[in-house]
Amino acid sequence: MAANATNSGDHQAKVPTTGAEIADSLEAATDATPDLVPTDNDVVHTGGCHCGAVQFVVMAPPVLQAVDCNCSICFKKQNRHFIVPKAKFKLLQGEDSLTCYTFNTHQAKHLFCKTCGVQSFYSPRSNPDGYGVMPHCLDQVTVERVVVETFDGQNWEQTIQTSSLPARSKVTQGKGDTKEPEKPDQ
Ligand SMILES: [Zn+2]
Repeated sequence: MAANATNSGDHQAKVPTTGAEIADSLEAATDATPDLVPTDNDVVHTGGCHCGAVQFVVMAPPVLQAVDCNCSICFKKQNRHFIVPKAKFKLLQGEDSLTCYTFNTHQAKHLFCKTCGVQSFYSPRSNPDGYGVMPHCLDQVTVERVVVETFDGQNWEQTIQTSSLPARSKVTQGKGDTKEPEKPDQ
């Protein structure tokens, strides 16, 4: 799993809080997956924050399936995001510009640019093995359409039971990919 498994927590991953820790965890993630893993429908999207400090590429279909969550923080931020496995995301620059906010279970890592405040991607509680990427932070040329579905994050524990979200960060159809669906949803 995580390349930076210095802490023994298996599913309770250590939450990076300092800039250095965030950089380490992101670097570990990107080092571990130097090559993006496309699947059939994927195109290469580029995106980032507003000031340009944070830039990434992400493999995803041109028609994006975005989640509109009504949990306490997503509602305030009007957060919409689509889920990808970590292997489909690569941070090109900006580790040093990212800062992290956590609350409650501290599982979601709400990363955002400390210069412009824009959250262009983050590590959601529903998908510790993936990233939530903001479709509105992509360079729109590759985005054909965004299909938005709602997620009742106000009742997170209940909603996740029947949600397809956890499965979306599993690499299922990558050619030559060896990532195993090691545990069932949830
Ligand atoms: Zn920025």
